Amino acid sequence: IAPIHVVGGGLAGSEAAWQIARQGVPVILHEMRPERPTDAHKTDGLAELVCSNSFRSDDSSTNAVGLLHAEMRRMDSLIMQCGDANQVPAGGALAVDRDGFSAAVTQALSAHPLVTLARGEVAGLPPEDWDSTIIATGPLTSAALADAIRGLTGETSLAFFDAIAPIVYRESIDMDVAWFQSRYDKAGPGGTGADYINCPMTREEYDRFIDALLAAEKTSFREWEANTPYFDGCLPIEVMAERGRETLRHGPMKPFGLTNPHRSGPEAKSYAVVQLRQDNALGTLYNMVGFQTKLKHAEQVRVFRTIPGLEQAEFARLGGLHRNTYLNSPRLLDPTLRLKAMPRLRFAGQITGCEGYVESAAVGLIAGRFAAAERLGRSPSLPPATTAIGALLNHITGGHIETIDAGPPSFQPMNVNFGLFPPLSEAPKTEDGRKLRGPAKAVAKKMALTARAKADLGSWLGAE
Ligand code: FAD
Repeated sequence: IAPIHVVGGGLAGSEAAWQIARQGVPVILHEMRPERPTDAHKTDGLAELVCSNSFRSDDSSTNAVGLLHAEMRRMDSLIMQCGDANQVPAGGALAVDRDGFSAAVTQALSAHPLVTLARGEVAGLPPEDWDSTIIATGPLTSAALADAIRGLTGETSLAFFDAIAPIVYRESIDMDVAWFQSRYDKAGPGGTGADYINCPMTREEYDRFIDALLAAEKTSFREWEANTPYFDGCLPIEVMAERGRETLRHGPMKPFGLTNPHRSGPEAKSYAVVQLRQDNALGTLYNMVGFQTKLKHAEQVRVFRTIPGLEQAEFARLGGLHRNTYLNSPRLLDPTLRLKAMPRLRFAGQITGCEGYVESAAVGLIAGRFAAAERLGRSPSLPPATTAIGALLNHITGGHIETIDAGPPSFQPMNVNFGLFPPLSEAPKTEDGRKLRGPAKAVAKKMALTARAKADLGSWLGAE
């Protein structure tokens, strides 16, 4: 059997190589370190954790990343095996000894008879005789390879300073205060004219909001990020506010073309408006348009909950700004993560637009399974969208909608979360059939989603 090539020995590439080898297919894993370092990695070990040592919650009943852990364990994940074996105490979270973890991954792959570890940069498109290659080179993909991919995809957005606006669960927005409307009721392609959720502000509320924004604590740049300039098109809101108190009101918070149906007369016109745009096809997540920010996470929650309609907002992710490299995957990749323009190339890990160690490894896992199946002459089988791994894959390859207006693509790296799952067909009830409310309802819903995921994963794995 001809080998499959995997480029990048990080979280995703290591897992992909393992999954390929365990199906009996030879694999060559290319890692450029130590020959060529990155700005964040410090060792030459495989699957080095560049920052925290946490795989986050290990609770598979009420937490989406905990569920992803459980699913990966059922699929013989190397990353989870080595994580479990190198666990350090961290309450309900799975945290690992980073050196022990990386050493265990390196050892397992080096010892596997079907895995060849090739040290060295793949400094351009993989040669044509690599007929099946997984590119898992992460957010810090080397410049030569990033340039080659950019040339191939025609995208201008592959390597850039990444601005992230917070994403809010739709059901946590108070629609007695907010309302649906597109500016001037404009219906873009696929739009209805009521595509945005709008949160109104009076002059006093706007003034208080600007004061809070200016006073809030910001995170500082990491050393290696300091030389990367801002893109003028996506300045953090606090930087815009520093340029003048009215700047935001003439930018992302402009009130024009919007009328508040909850008010009448002059009060129906707001002094400023915060808009939220649908972020996934299911309509369960909304991103705060233009609200990219470097405020500390706790400060974002505090300050953004002062926005009328967002007092009870729950955030699927908070804003941030850091250098990043990822593909506009919904446009460029097919459902099995192959580049439509060159199907011998498959992508995995953070470069596909997932976020986080576990998510990157999970996408590596599924890419490895797809590539191995293909090599063995079987057609790759897609995991159900009701599973954590399926929901994540669906977000990356097509569950996401394009922006309705003509802005930059809003596809953004995303941690796994329950907003990516298809809704339950029936709301959970008490044993005697009564409707649940409040926190009990939220917990019951998560438990029903994870139970459905576990059952569906079992059927899918059984049928394979
Ligand atoms: P990586 O783990 O980065 O692996 C990519 C590998 O490819 C690297 O080993 C690199 O050396 C190699 N490579 C690159 N180019 C080439 C080439 N041309 N040829 C050969 N090899 C190449 N996530 C979290 O969950 N928690 C965190 O605390 C966290 N902190 C982060 C901090 C920073 C600074 C960054 C950039 C990201 C962070 N992330 C974090 C996000 C993400 O989870 C990690 O970046 C994760 O490691 C991504 O996995 P990956 O396999 O896609 O990429």
